Amino acid sequence: MQQHLTYFDYAATTPVRPEAAAALADALGQFGNPSSRYEFGREAARRVKEHRDAVAEAFGCSPSELFFTSCGTEGDNWAIRAALHQNRRVGKHIVTTAVEHSAVLQCVKQLEREGYTASYVKPDGEGHISAEAVLNAVREDTALVSVMLVNNETGARLPVEEIAALLRDRPALLHTDAVQGFLKVPFTAAGLGADYAVISAHKVGGPKGAGALYIGGRAKNTLPLLFGGGQQNGLRSGTENVPGIAGISLAAKMIYQDLDVKVARMRRLKQRFIKGVSQIEDTVIHGLYDETSAPHIISVGFAGIRSEVLLHALEEKGIYVSSGSACSSNHPQVSGVLKGIGARQEFLDATLRFSMSEFTTPQEIDYTLDTLYNIVPNLRKYTRR
Ligand code: PLP
Repeated sequence: MQQHLTYFDYAATTPVRPEAAAALADALGQFGNPSSRYEFGREAARRVKEHRDAVAEAFGCSPSELFFTSCGTEGDNWAIRAALHQNRRVGKHIVTTAVEHSAVLQCVKQLEREGYTASYVKPDGEGHISAEAVLNAVREDTALVSVMLVNNETGARLPVEEIAALLRDRPALLHTDAVQGFLKVPFTAAGLGADYAVISAHKVGGPKGAGALYIGGRAKNTLPLLFGGGQQNGLRSGTENVPGIAGISLAAKMIYQDLDVKVARMRRLKQRFIKGVSQIEDTVIHGLYDETSAPHIISVGFAGIRSEVLLHALEEKGIYVSSGSACSSNHPQVSGVLKGIGARQEFLDATLRFSMSEFTTPQEIDYTLDTLYNIVPNLRKYTRR
């Protein structure tokens, strides 16, 4: 890896914050099992409780509604199966969107193989999905509605609260994948009105392999994910990943301080980047990028240049971005999200996602823009259009 790196792929993963790394190392040293009866086991249990309180505060729910998981994917899979189990007498129909992360889409595909049916609501040309469009897909036998809070490719913010309100007198339970929205757009897990909401540590400066699921609202008698020693209220057995839990807790605590200021700063940088990149001919910004969108994700199509080619040309200059949804797979394929929002054919395989964090600087934005001004026209010389 080059010494100076301009990292523009925070939606794929983030560096572990020093405070989170220190808490994680400390928890490795304090190795007690939270279920043990002697003092240093009880000390580990006390720490898990403190961390649960801290994550619950940042996520906006009560600590009793928060369950630590091994990742966002686990939370999504668990919530979906738990909702269908609770509503097994309602029916076997699922409503979701065509732009969900594969942690949801592939889980729903598997459920279709198991005998469920699913409707996939498509976004409009700006990447927006209205609450009414979701409600129109809901039937009497719909047991679950799953709609993400922030899309990981375009940054579009979906109207989860409105959907929750419209579903209030329907039996369908509501799950939201809030992985890209957590500590980026203002919300509280309880305030969303969803019955399940999911977050992941490594998107917010915590370690990989840790996440959390909010179970609240109308969710009840939740189907345990793992059966065993009865940890986490019997719903997710298995000795708690105390270092991972310490990591997500410290990371969330650090970002949560002055969050408004950080978000406003990211939004200014996003506008600066959009203004600059729009000066390059034949580029398009996918989806809505107004105040409703997430402040950290920008999806840009560069007509005539394959994303892989531009990605590696940027890498040579020490700039790291992703093509499509890199956090979910390393198999290059045309993005279902871009197709879903009706992106023109010439942009389908010619789009990069730039994603930022509170640590991104104006200098990094300007360096990336200058680099694009140089390499995009050069690369286009060698492509037939
Ligand atoms: N959901 C969204 C929207 C994501 O961007 C990701 C990213 O990978 C996930 C779920 C999966 O999270 P994890 O990598 O923790 O399993």
